[in-house]
Amino acid sequence: GRRVVVVGAGMAGVQTAVALREQGFTGTVTLLGAEPHQPYDRPPLSKAVLLGKAEGSAFDVDFEALGIELRLGREVSGLRSGDHELDTAEGPVPYDVLVLATGAEPIRLPGADGIPGVHLLRTLDDAERLRPVLARQHDIVVVGAGWIGAEFATAAREAGCAVTVVEAADRPLAGALPAEVAAPMAAWYADAGAVLRTHTRVERVEPGAVVLDDGTRLPAGAVVVGIGARPATGWLADSGIELGAHREVVADDRLRTSVPDVYAVGDCASFPSGRYGERLLVHHWDNALQGPRTVAANIVGQTPAVYDPVPYFWSEQFGRFVQYVGHHASADTTLWRGDPATPAWTVCWLRGDRLVALLAVGRPRDLAQGRRLIESGTPMNPGPLADPSLLMKDA
Ligand code: FAD
Repeated sequence: GRRVVVVGAGMAGVQTAVALREQGFTGTVTLLGAEPHQPYDRPPLSKAVLLGKAEGSAFDVDFEALGIELRLGREVSGLRSGDHELDTAEGPVPYDVLVLATGAEPIRLPGADGIPGVHLLRTLDDAERLRPVLARQHDIVVVGAGWIGAEFATAAREAGCAVTVVEAADRPLAGALPAEVAAPMAAWYADAGAVLRTHTRVERVEPGAVVLDDGTRLPAGAVVVGIGARPATGWLADSGIELGAHREVVADDRLRTSVPDVYAVGDCASFPSGRYGERLLVHHWDNALQGPRTVAANIVGQTPAVYDPVPYFWSEQFGRFVQYVGHHASADTTLWRGDPATPAWTVCWLRGDRLVALLAVGRPRDLAQGRRLIESGTPMNPGPLADPSLLMKDA
């Protein structure tokens, strides 16, 4: 039978291996992962695992029973596609079909590497190093008010630490959400007793302190850097695989790369969205769940399977459940359901009379109904849609 090799044993890699078996693939499936740990889920790392409410977040998958050969602690250093071979320190690994699922790696703060007390939050090892930091209830400085910064600040406040979040932009989540939607979220920091300093850059990090560009010296028992992540594709530099503007693997609508017999999925790859008419690079969990089913279908089946998801993600921050579905870039109308100063509200983005995206805070029912309305492209009436006491599906 054919040999499928998957590089990266995170959500996308594991789901690809599992989906291959679910879809009846009978050849060899080998999963290579750089990390030494049993494959695990990342979202709990900034939530329950960080607070010690969960020991770990290993996937509940019986690799042996599924006939998946799991090789952990194996970093792949290169791809020679002409030979259909990967390079590892333990020697070459041949493949018939290859799946790239190496995810993303956090962006480091220039000049902060190697300074004691400076942390990232991407891996189980990172979370385990941060757990005792929270328990010591230090002054903590978080660099970046993105998803990771907000979730880490939430956990640190819950653990009783003094938390200052430093953000270069004028608001939290500046890269992800428009100003009017993100602005109300700034108040969440203050509500939780965290200090949010926007328009602020880090000048340098010293042992025990962060110096800001206005000269302020913030005492810091620990510094957590959450300034984004980029695709982990350095090892593909000489492979002939086409990489995009963010150094991501450029995949097509079937998640095939520019090289024959090589697919890419999850945080490491972008794909053309037929639905939204642009190329999407998604760094969220649901994409690492859905994409693998398309990859497996294209490996196993005769009929081409096209990947065209409605993206979805969630975040748990400052006691709120935040959910987003769709993609709002092409929207022409923003419509509020409820008051953003209250605990529960929703923002709808429309293009013409169709819903294209939605952000729900504490309104999971809006999310569920909105997702179906986006998928079906149902025409909406703005009046009733803006009334939070009516169901979205009745608007
Ligand atoms: P990864 O999970 O990054 O897995 C890739 C794996 O490949 C890694 O284990 C890596 O070690 C390995 N690898 C890399 N290079 C090589 C190599 N050369 N050779 C071998 N192995 C290699 N998303 C949400 O939607 N909601 C959330 O609440 C949420 N919370 C999150 C919290 C945290 C702390 C983090 C870090 C992420 C969170 N995410 C969340 C995002 C979500 O976890 C990711 O989108 C998802 O993990 C992507 O899966 P992946 O398999 O593509 O990549």
